[in-house]
Amino acid sequence: MKEIILAKLGEIVLKGLNRKNFEDVLVKTIKRRLYRIGSFKVKCVQSTITVTPLSDDADIDEAADCISKIFGIAAYCRACVAEKDIEKIKTAACEYLADHFSRIGSFKVEAKRSDKKFPLKSPEIAREVGGCLADRFPEVAVDVHTPDAVVTVEIRDDAAYIHSEVFKGAGGIPVGTGGKAAILISGGIDSPVAGYMMAKRGVELTAVHFASPPYTSERAEEKVAELLKRVSLYSGRIRMYTVPFTKLQEEIRDKCHEEYFTIIMRRFMMRIAQEIAEQNECQALVTGESLGQVASQTIGAVACTDAVCSMPVFRPLIGMDKEEIIGISRKIDTFEVSIQPYEDCCTVFTPKHPRTRPVLSTVIDEENKIDYAPLIADALENLKVTDISA
Ligand code: ATP
Ligand code: MG
Repeated sequence: MKEIILAKLGEIVLKGLNRKNFEDVLVKTIKRRLYRIGSFKVKCVQSTITVTPLSDDADIDEAADCISKIFGIAAYCRACVAEKDIEKIKTAACEYLADHFSRIGSFKVEAKRSDKKFPLKSPEIAREVGGCLADRFPEVAVDVHTPDAVVTVEIRDDAAYIHSEVFKGAGGIPVGTGGKAAILISGGIDSPVAGYMMAKRGVELTAVHFASPPYTSERAEEKVAELLKRVSLYSGRIRMYTVPFTKLQEEIRDKCHEEYFTIIMRRFMMRIAQEIAEQNECQALVTGESLGQVASQTIGAVACTDAVCSMPVFRPLIGMDKEEIIGISRKIDTFEVSIQPYEDCCTVFTPKHPRTRPVLSTVIDEENKIDYAPLIADALENLKVTDISA
């Protein structure tokens, strides 16, 4: 039996004149993501995207899983395709819906006839198919008011589609329609979730990771790449820049007052990330900070960090509890990777008593003990670039 996927657009239908652009981006995204799975035809008609397998080996289960992670889709369903003959439609419906009907208590049938040449009108189609299903599945009641499932029969120009089980889509808006931002990614739980959340709002991601070998290991970098790979199932391809950060961190350790280690390190991170962001036409930075989580995430510390940034810094987790963040990280399947125990540069040379209310002028005085401009330039000249996709 031939099966297709129908996807309903989400919030993008609200976007007025931009709608066409949003739809085009979404169709292109779906085509690109399905490319590795097999050959599919993807088209958008009246806020519904139809995904049709073009070859026998194009795996519809994998395609549905892929579609469930694409932002801009509010809901999707799988449908069976039948010849436009009422007897064939009835036979196909009974066969195709058997599995779903084993899990529900009631149903109703709705029909949509966009091909007006089809001999039966919509109510007649609904009645015929409904009667056939009621006979075939006597344990499932007909309920026209609050059914567990609505079976839809669509008579289109090319064929008839039958579907019933509707799945929630990834929501959000299509990646690429919200600009581009650079995410500062660690191996922790928070930053992959922050990246996912910005991608959900249509933002394309570039990633910046700071590594301090030999204090941090090759495995820690691989862990970050694995996290980004999982985020990329939602966000699409991500270019990752790994910044050699050892010299700057050693300078901070050797020259600055211990209380200010973290805040100064974070200011260097932001300066470097911003350079990389600009080179990649990103318009914002993203971090996984959450207010009050650690000493460097108080309002005062965030203010000192942001003082070196000229582009907006998005912190989508700022008002979230760790438990809520963990909930999302489990959902997007990054949690198990995040909790693998590898050092992050943030955890080397950590002060025993970091300043929670740093004074900006003191931070600047401490920072100026380092001749940091050439060190930043050197780090930027020695970036490692890795392209990551699922
Ligand atoms: P967790 O809090 O779960 O350890 P985290 O990613 O939030 O993970 P923090 O130490 O809280 O780690 O760092 C706060 C933010 O700073 C991160 O969310 C991330 O955006 C950025 N960050 C930390 N370490 C790095 C790093 N090595 N490279 C790039 N960005 C980093
Ligand atoms: Mg954190």
